[in-house]
Amino acid sequence: MSKFFSEKFADLIPYVPGEQPKDMKYIKLNTNESPFAPSTKAQEYALDAAKKLQLYPDPDCTELREKIASLYELDKDEIVIVNGSDEILNFAFMAYCDQKTPAAFADITYGFYPVYAKINKVPYVEIPLNENYEINVEDYIGINKTIFIANPNAPTGIALPLDQIERIISSNPNNIVVVDEAYVDFGAQSAVKLIRKYDNLLVTQTFSKSRSMAGARLGMGFANKKLIQDINTLRYSTNPYNINRMTMAAGIGTIEDNEYTIKNCKVIQENREWTIQELQKLGFTTLNSKANFVFTKNEKFSGEYLYKSLKAKGVLVRYFNKERLNQFLRITIGSIDEMKILINTLKTIMEESK
Ligand code: PMP
Repeated sequence: MSKFFSEKFADLIPYVPGEQPKDMKYIKLNTNESPFAPSTKAQEYALDAAKKLQLYPDPDCTELREKIASLYELDKDEIVIVNGSDEILNFAFMAYCDQKTPAAFADITYGFYPVYAKINKVPYVEIPLNENYEINVEDYIGINKTIFIANPNAPTGIALPLDQIERIISSNPNNIVVVDEAYVDFGAQSAVKLIRKYDNLLVTQTFSKSRSMAGARLGMGFANKKLIQDINTLRYSTNPYNINRMTMAAGIGTIEDNEYTIKNCKVIQENREWTIQELQKLGFTTLNSKANFVFTKNEKFSGEYLYKSLKAKGVLVRYFNKERLNQFLRITIGSIDEMKILINTLKTIMEESK
């Protein structure tokens, strides 16, 4: 830290993204990216947009919002486009939390929530998951706090059914409930259709996972028009050109090619079920995932040992050195060939340790 760094951030511990080592070629199953290339339409539109990079992009993202609105059967004013869903999560902490209204989220969830709370100087409570790593809905009923729920949750992959999400939203009418649906397309139920029923609901989604665009940074928020206005006040007060031309064009191509996304999500779900079965044969227990990753453990080997052994053999997975999580590995579901390599590498590691 330099001597110039403001005291207000002196205690800030930044979020640690999944590692991107360059020392050798890895099978990358550690950051929940898609194994599939973006849609060819997305690639073509982005290339074309590159020819106009001398011009600022449309700060209203009108065409992209119109395309999304027609796909989701919404009004374009119920949608805001953001630079990855991380950006709108930060906006939600800025907009809807303060000393009077603390944030609340699970003790085991997306690691960025406490960081956003801290950078915004917002108090927060962490609500423990139950012994099965599930959200206990009763803990969220009428709590007078701004609630953040990742659904499916990360890193567990466990999803709450929509009626349970709705109970949380309807029982907190004076507080915003943010439902972070980064992984919803892999088999969970979306709350987007509830935005007209509840004025306290903000749903966030991303193009990073199911839509194969993590490198482009594109996310979206769905809510009633007033909440979207709040987010836009913050967006226009920080970076109105938050979506660059190439990303916006790629986003339009991806939405036009939605069948490709649907097809890929189906393959990921099939690969997930295959992987869970193969892991089970090797003695692993896996939480019930509705995401493009699994959270799995083996009583005979520590999470750290498996993580390090896999890495040494060229397979990267995510390991969390934290209480209740350190027995587990979080493994992204990739192509079937990648998953076969993962399983074979695990078999080798287990053989070698005999
Ligand atoms: N929410 C959750 C639960 C996530 O795991 C991630 C990805 N790390 C995000 C939001 C943010 O994704 P992005 O900014 O790429 O849209």
